[in-house]
Amino acid sequence: MLTYHVISLFPESLTSYINESILSRAQEKKLINIKTYNPRDFAEITGGWRKKVDGKPYSGGPGMVLLPGPVLRAVAKAKGRASTKKKFKIIIFSPGGTMFTNTYAKNIVDKKITDIIMICGRYEGIDARVKKILKAEEVSIGDYVLTGGELPAMICMDAISRQIKGVLGKFESLEENRVSSHEVYTRPEIFEYNKKKYKVPEVLLSGDHKKIEEWKMKSKQAENK
Ligand code: SAM
Repeated sequence: MLTYHVISLFPESLTSYINESILSRAQEKKLINIKTYNPRDFAEITGGWRKKVDGKPYSGGPGMVLLPGPVLRAVAKAKGRASTKKKFKIIIFSPGGTMFTNTYAKNIVDKKITDIIMICGRYEGIDARVKKILKAEEVSIGDYVLTGGELPAMICMDAISRQIKGVLGKFESLEENRVSSHEVYTRPEIFEYNKKKYKVPEVLLSGDHKKIEEWKMKSKQAENK
């Protein structure tokens, strides 16, 4: 079983997607497990009534930076709850990190990683010493800046989990195990919109599997150009 330990200041933002997706079924089947840890639960009360999780950046600038202490204590808790086999990976989400791809997702499963700790940043990011101390890998999900690491965590959990045998209805559903095209059609055969008729490509109705596969390959190549 692969356990995701998500370190996030907003763990509730993850729950609706987790509960209504393949991630929920995968948990029921005990193929994956998702645990969340809020750094605020590991913060110290400093002066005021609120547990402090962030501070102003040295050298100035806008936005706050997540304090190393609460994040590291949350990670320590996650490590303590990791499976006994302990094949860890620690990821810090950052727009400047290694690009997350399907190959990256597949490698995690092939390497039989048992526990992935995913640290979600917020505001200006996480104190850089966290990465050094944990020897964590920075991972980006795309060349754009989001407000937090929760969406990246969900995207990675989804893409990694569907690589685990048994998570999808049929393992053959994995796109890379079959000829699949991004151009797909369903009923009706002719769809009318604004007085114009849109037809399903003839070949898909032919029942000729060889021709259909060739068409899918061609349409995929055209899309990838
Ligand atoms: N100032 C930071 C920088 O330039 O790297 C950006 C901080 S961003 C507003 C807040 C957090 O969202 C980041 O710490 C990171 O965890 C997450 N994040 C934003 N965009 C991301 C992306 N493309 N991939 C992965 N994580 C991202």
